[in-house]
Amino acid sequence: DRPQSNYFGAGPAQLPLPVLQQAAKDLINFQDEGLGIGEISHRSKAAAKVITDTKAHLKELFAIPDTHEVFFLQGGGTTGFSSVASNLSAAHFGKTGEVGTAAYLITGSWSEKSSQESERLGVPTEVIFNVKKDNGRFGTIPESSTWVQKLDAKKHSYVYLCENETVHGVEWPEQLPRELIDSKVPIVADLSSDILSRKINVADYSLIMAGAQKNIGLAGLTLYIIKKDILDDIAKVSPKQLRDASLPVSPIATDYPTVVKNDSAYNTIPIFTLHIIDLVLQRLLEQGGIESQQKENEEKAKILYEALDKFPEFYNLPVDKKYRSKMNVVFTIKKDGLDSKFLEEATKLNLTGLKGHRSVGGFRASLYNAVELSSVKLLVDFVTKFAENNQ
Ligand code: PMP
Repeated sequence: DRPQSNYFGAGPAQLPLPVLQQAAKDLINFQDEGLGIGEISHRSKAAAKVITDTKAHLKELFAIPDTHEVFFLQGGGTTGFSSVASNLSAAHFGKTGEVGTAAYLITGSWSEKSSQESERLGVPTEVIFNVKKDNGRFGTIPESSTWVQKLDAKKHSYVYLCENETVHGVEWPEQLPRELIDSKVPIVADLSSDILSRKINVADYSLIMAGAQKNIGLAGLTLYIIKKDILDDIAKVSPKQLRDASLPVSPIATDYPTVVKNDSAYNTIPIFTLHIIDLVLQRLLEQGGIESQQKENEEKAKILYEALDKFPEFYNLPVDKKYRSKMNVVFTIKKDGLDSKFLEEATKLNLTGLKGHRSVGGFRASLYNAVELSSVKLLVDFVTKFAENNQ
């Protein structure tokens, strides 16, 4: 057991205590076999069952259609940036015989980093828009009518977006713009910081990737949901053909068709880390699935934004209301000299993890799935009193 904490860190983040308690037991003695889950072969029956179960639970939670496949890769979101660029450009080449251009929609630092990685790997890369302001901040998403006509299914191998920008607190609406889907350019989305926080229509995406360490587990594993025809298209191309076309060849451990063919165990999958993901998924299913989690997340975000909005002279919320993240609430204090006092007083009340990302300063309250409504209520009381006492 452990003392109650109200931790709002951006990730790695809190996990549900019952999940950790079960995982701790399983780390020592899994299914009473006298071995911990981290000690068994990744090719054993027990490990294969963890992989199968996790996939099944994810398919159930997200209502994943048969057109899509689930797999896991070692690494994090950053591994995803590279694997997306190499695999998806190979898919376009396999399908059309032409080198495509990767299209990036930049709404924050993670989508920006991903576009830089695509460029670094030598993939022709086009930034469709980048809404970074002169002060280095982000805070909006342009209306799709202003950019969607730039997308061309013949030219673009994929269009990439980060569904929730963890540092800047900008989140795409739950339903992606219709025109974006209608462009027929394969949509690739990074859901590292909002996976399982709300419903999504998986059929709209060609690829979803998400690092585990915020809403679903520990660092070390990344989850992928891919449209199967993309896998077929990648498998059509040989490494030599890619080299001849000056496209990057995926390292074997992140070559999507190879990983899928081997049911995510081409090399050693960290099975303990995956087991934790499965425990999180099982708990979510028991507690009413994504719908009830989403309701709670909406309530948490609503009460915190309302509390901050009550003091427009005191708190600054840099993100357009329409695109405010429900996972990462970003704000600053307008008056100088109060930042350390805010953090010190919050810490005294056991409200921690509130410091903003080093690149933007200010504050960030991350309200991931495992953050309790009761913790958010304490934070609401605190931000209210702090504003009242320091005007
Ligand atoms: N994408 C998003 C949305 C993130 O929030 C992060 C990290 N917090 C990353 C990618 C990079 O993840 P990693 O550190 O696991 O490479």
